[in-house]
Amino acid sequence: MPSEFDLIRRHFTRPAGHSELAVGDDAALIAPRPGMRLAVSTDMLVAGTHFFADTDPEALGWKTLAVNISDLAAMGAEPRWALLALALPAADEAWIAPFARGLFACAARFGVDLVGGDTTRGPLNLCVTAIGEVPTGQAVTRSGARAGEDLWVTGHPGRAALGLAHLRGDVVLDTDGATHCLDALVRPQPRVDAGLALRGIATAMLDVSDGLVGDLGHILEGSGVGALLDASALPLAALLATGAEPGLARRCLLAGGDDYELLFSAPPSERPALAALAGRLDLPLNRIGTVTPDAGQVVIREADGTLRPPGGRGYDHFA
Ligand code: ADP
Ligand code: MG
Repeated sequence: MPSEFDLIRRHFTRPAGHSELAVGDDAALIAPRPGMRLAVSTDMLVAGTHFFADTDPEALGWKTLAVNISDLAAMGAEPRWALLALALPAADEAWIAPFARGLFACAARFGVDLVGGDTTRGPLNLCVTAIGEVPTGQAVTRSGARAGEDLWVTGHPGRAALGLAHLRGDVVLDTDGATHCLDALVRPQPRVDAGLALRGIATAMLDVSDGLVGDLGHILEGSGVGALLDASALPLAALLATGAEPGLARRCLLAGGDDYELLFSAPPSERPALAALAGRLDLPLNRIGTVTPDAGQVVIREADGTLRPPGGRGYDHFA
């Protein structure tokens, strides 16, 4: 049976490219580059709550780090370091090795050094702390949205929720559609390039982890504003192309979490810059509504002009 230290040495110790001291001592030593602030975020994934215990460990390794990197992207920060606190039911290397492979694949993709963590026995629980850098004064918070601005979302929100519905047998997607949606669920791609490019353009931003409408509420609360969503502007085409019926596609788009797309506000004067950015990033940027002065209120304008509440609250672990 490998010891805790064998596990750390074998599976979680890799060369750290830009850290003074990484795994192996009592603490890591890291330094932000001149002119930078550190952006720090932590997220926990609990078996049975955030993922099925029998999830493919390599995919889980990727996702564990990816969801934390997404939080940095949502601040306009560049991911640089991570720590991993891990509770494992057993020293099962057939599980740990692919988990570490997936995690380091994500770390390599986004230029992150794993600089430390903790390894203990217990019910499967994964907690990453991610640290990034953002030029002083340029972080994009949730509090900068102003009435009259546009609301935008990146990519194809709803795919992960549709993939989950497919896994549960609530819907049968066609083969290509299922592949796309399960990929979004299992290997989310944090929108780091978009987050960095949106510095100086987005006035407020977050990553959608618990559902678009629910997470939009956090921007509205932080900024003291409301939102008018335009039903005909919602990016439903990619979801409908999977074979899902329109009602389900719309629910997944508005209320599904786990895609880690970026939701942000920007002044209308930035529309040309955002169109150019979408081309440069090869990523759809969808203008889905406007910021209103009606603090905390979200309404959706249907294709026929009627206004109604959008439904679809976000995911809340305690509700
Ligand atoms: P201590 O008892 O001093 O906290 P540990 O024995 O917990 O030290 O950890 C030894 C070293 O291994 C530390 O540098 C710690 O940051 C690192 N470490 C422990 N677990 C992990 C892990 N899962 N991933 C990365 N680094 C880890
Ligand atoms: Mg320790």
